[in-house]
Amino acid sequence: MQVARNKVVTISYELSESGKGKLEDGTLDYLHGFRNLMPALEKFLTDKKEGFSGKVEIGPRDAFGEFSEDMVMTIPKDQLEKPEEMQVGMQIELESKEGVIPALVTAVGTDSITVDGNHPYAGKTLTFDIKVLAIRDASAEELAHGHAHGAHGHHH
Ligand SMILES: [Zn+2]
Repeated sequence: MQVARNKVVTISYELSESGKGKLEDGTLDYLHGFRNLMPALEKFLTDKKEGFSGKVEIGPRDAFGEFSEDMVMTIPKDQLEKPEEMQVGMQIELESKEGVIPALVTAVGTDSITVDGNHPYAGKTLTFDIKVLAIRDASAEELAHGHAHGAHGHHH
């Protein structure tokens, strides 16, 4: 069996920043062809067989986007609900036109804080070292939901 649309694929992966260190690793079941993975990764995996292993490098534009200075913002403390609780490294939620976005507190001053709303991997060129562990046909329910169920898939 080959990786194709409507197949549930089990992969293990190690994700690193190209030329730098490992960021994360894991195993997951995903439904191919439903944009559950970034398109560049689905394209790389298309037609691969069980047992395949290989590496692919994906630039920021096809991964988590370029780093945007506009996403680094200074917020006056009087606009915060609990300014006294703010600490560097904390994850907070910002309300924007596109909905709620997670942001990292990068500095805490006397009257304001600085937050970075970029994705943690924004601006990074990523290398995925991937193994295709298993491929199976998706169930009707999985196709209706648009994602994979099972051990490394969605739980609900
Ligand atoms: Zn589901």
